[in-house]
Amino acid sequence: MQIYTAPLDDIRFLLEAFDYTGKIHGIPAFAEFDIDMAMDLLGGMATFCTEVLQPLNKSADAEGVTYNPEDHSVTTPKGFKEAYAEYVENGFTTLPYPPEHGGLGAPVVLNTLGSEVLIAANKSFSMLPGLSAGLIDALEGYTVHSEEFGNDNLLPKLISGEWAGTMALTEPQCGTDLGLLTTKAEPFGDHFKLSGTKVWITFGEQDMTENIVHLVLARLPDAPEGIKGISTFIVPKFLADGTRNPVFCGGVDHKMGIHASPTCVLNFEEAEGWLVGKPNQGMRPMFTMMNVARLNVGIEGVALGEAAYQAALTFAKDRRQSRSLNPAKRDANAAADNILVHPDVRRMLLEAKSTNEGLRGLVAWIAMCYDLSHHALDEDEKQKASDLVALLTPIIKSFGSERGFLNISTAMQVMGGAGFTTDWPVEQYLRDERIAMIYEGTNHIQALDLVGRKLPMHGGRLMRVFAGEITALLREASAHEALAPYVAALKVESKRLNDTTMTMGGAAMQDNEVIGAVSSNYLNQFALVTLAYVWLKQLTHVMALDEDDAMRRNKIQTARYFFELILPEAEMYANKVAVGKTPMTDIDVDLL
Ligand SMILES: Cc1cc2nc3c(=O)[nH]c(=O)nc-3n(C[C@H](O)[C@H](O)[C@H](O)COP(=O)(O)OP(=O)(O)OC[C@H]3O[C@@H](n4cnc5c(N)ncnc54)[C@H](O)[C@@H]3O)c2cc1C
Repeated sequence: MQIYTAPLDDIRFLLEAFDYTGKIHGIPAFAEFDIDMAMDLLGGMATFCTEVLQPLNKSADAEGVTYNPEDHSVTTPKGFKEAYAEYVENGFTTLPYPPEHGGLGAPVVLNTLGSEVLIAANKSFSMLPGLSAGLIDALEGYTVHSEEFGNDNLLPKLISGEWAGTMALTEPQCGTDLGLLTTKAEPFGDHFKLSGTKVWITFGEQDMTENIVHLVLARLPDAPEGIKGISTFIVPKFLADGTRNPVFCGGVDHKMGIHASPTCVLNFEEAEGWLVGKPNQGMRPMFTMMNVARLNVGIEGVALGEAAYQAALTFAKDRRQSRSLNPAKRDANAAADNILVHPDVRRMLLEAKSTNEGLRGLVAWIAMCYDLSHHALDEDEKQKASDLVALLTPIIKSFGSERGFLNISTAMQVMGGAGFTTDWPVEQYLRDERIAMIYEGTNHIQALDLVGRKLPMHGGRLMRVFAGEITALLREASAHEALAPYVAALKVESKRLNDTTMTMGGAAMQDNEVIGAVSSNYLNQFALVTLAYVWLKQLTHVMALDEDDAMRRNKIQTARYFFELILPEAEMYANKVAVGKTPMTDIDVDLL
């Protein structure tokens, strides 16, 4: 039973709380997109997703994809092709792109919040437009050196959704460590011929679009070893004259979840490709693509966490088991009480709700920063927004995917055995979400990015910008007496984060291995402080609403749970970081 409803009220609330009207609608490029228009767009997308894509979610999971070895083709589940055609016809692929390439020119934040709804309705399906979006972002910043497949030809086809993109990095011997890749690119006239094997390429082959454009990492003949010798190419499935380029799917993987998303082996058999950007600087466009993808992966946790929470709440409202521990709350007219009387059932629901709504707020904030980093009229504001995107993207990817998975598991627990059965969608959500901690750079790689790259970047400027945001909010929130406990808690935890950062930074300067040992715990501490910031931002906003306003009461109740029962985990993570590296480094590996 799929019962998901898009959380449009919360989305609107978040847009207001983070001052969409002043910050985003105020930008001339977005003058058309006031908040009502924004919500109309999201509402239309939500209707499509729940009416067309959600009904396919379960059947597509059961059917999976089929590999046809005779022609190396892949057949996607029943209904996918038609649903994609409708998705394209509705213009959903065009939302955040410039009108000169056929885009609608909407702010990225709307597309980002819309993708939550898309993923919740059908995660496997969402991955096809998601990958195209990453490719478009890479191509907007880097030149493809080709007449037929130059940016001006490719972008309109990708933005309209006629063609789709992929991201082809991984090889059998090279996952995290891309320096190990061996796919070769040999010069061929003004372009190249690529040979090698890529694995686990999402939608590497499919029957939903007319052409597929692969963004491929490969090595030129004279390339230096390792990561410094990687170049990026685009390799289309069909060439400009319609002939088949020899990049063939060699099979699809059978996996735990996202069954309707083909995960493909791709064999490049001297396939023609064109260079993107400069030779041996291939990681740059790939990082652009991956940054957008990382944000989306964090949203996967919010999307499926929300859908699972809604299923659990629906179940809980109906289920009767045992008696309330409080005699006054017992229902004299029934043999058992509704399970919502049990504090532990409420605990589980609030665990999921408070972290999920916090994460949605974080995503909304950072997606707005993404828009500001490109379009803010003030250079200083642009820089600050760009710093926040860089700093907090690894946190969204890692904490979003980890908490998302945990929240789905918690929702399943609310439902007892029913949640484990296929009568409810929660077991599918759990299977579909697990990969989010692994792909687009494992969660530990996000933590290394945060600690090893983002903290020291520009002499610690990113962290100072973040600290400045916290200070400004604490000042604003202090004006409301009712918020005093929350202000105090954020003050304590942001100071603790600062102390952890300084101590860890000092230790890491002496010994790099410390970073490897503590960064995952540090990221979690950082994420909890960031969510406390997001919650205090929401609380400050609800202070303007009437005391009996449902949204105000809802936010205060949920925030209270977050501050009193989730935020204390930040201290636990700080204590883990303080232990340092020895429990991991000074051990006998033979005893593992
Ligand atoms: C369903 C699915 C879809 C995918 N889609 C795509 C796609 O579209 N395109 C694509 O190119 N790839 C794709 N991938 C591949 C995915 O990105 C990789 O699985 C991922 O990057 C991790 O690489 P790996 O699996 O080789 O793990 P490994 O790199 O072998 O890592 C194994 C473990 O070692 C740890 N580890 C590795 N290096 C370090 C280090 N330096 N420090 C500390 N720990 C380390 C990792 O964190 C992990 O826990 C997909 C994979 C799956 C399963």
